[in-house]
Amino acid sequence: MRKVLFILFFTFLLTPTFFAYAEAPIKILLVPGHDDEVWGAQYGNIKEADMNLSLAQELFNILKKDKRFEVYITRKWGGYTKEFEDYFTTQEDEILAFKENAKADMLGKIISGIFIKKPNPPHNVVSKGGAVLLYGFNKWANENKIDAMIHIHFNDYPRPNKWTIGKYWGFNLYIPEEQMVNAKESKDLAQNVFTKLKEKYVVSNYEKERAGLVPDQTLIALGSNSSLRETVRSILIEYGYIYEKKFRTKSTRHQAYKDMAKLTAQGIKSYFSPTLSTLP
Ligand SMILES: [Zn+2]
Repeated sequence: MRKVLFILFFTFLLTPTFFAYAEAPIKILLVPGHDDEVWGAQYGNIKEADMNLSLAQELFNILKKDKRFEVYITRKWGGYTKEFEDYFTTQEDEILAFKENAKADMLGKIISGIFIKKPNPPHNVVSKGGAVLLYGFNKWANENKIDAMIHIHFNDYPRPNKWTIGKYWGFNLYIPEEQMVNAKESKDLAQNVFTKLKEKYVVSNYEKERAGLVPDQTLIALGSNSSLRETVRSILIEYGYIYEKKFRTKSTRHQAYKDMAKLTAQGIKSYFSPTLSTLP
């Protein structure tokens, strides 16, 4: 009897199922950019924050079905999820301290020549409240051992009349600049997502985004001022310009969310498990 149990135990141990469940889950945090108060870009009555959330939810639902992933999201319709709402209420002072420490730490690195400042692509200045939120997400991601943060955005650029159709289109991904501690792995993850999105969509024709993967030192989302640990990969995807034709009508816009989320999920899966990349 003991021998039978012994054999059974080892058979179980050697099955792929055992290994699948024994492995620690891959933790993904989805950050649909902006929120209901500061909604980013707008074209007609379409707000970027809503587009970001729609796409993020599609992506959430796809990734959630894969047992290897533990997926988190910062927002839902109507506001932040309870987890983040509570975090911001209870950790307000700690987040501010974290932000100031990170900045002071980086300043020290710049002064001592450890970190070299480089020109970065232009971005809208984040409000004080927006910066606190972004540092809060990073602090939470560090503490909760998040493996990857996916920031979801749609693009726009400053022009005289916001209601005209702009001259840029296409997607691109922002990645941590190479001196940042999470740069290498973030870049590999971004490359996988880029390859998938490229199957269906064109890369941005704006000269500073044309490379597809655009390194940046200043975006808090990517861990500027050493605010993300080495193990927290972070990428910021600009899925396209808000006024592009495919986003103008409800049906094509929703189809785009689905297609873009599907391709993003495939990219994330292929990065985390190259051997499974050919599976549907
Ligand atoms: Zn945005």
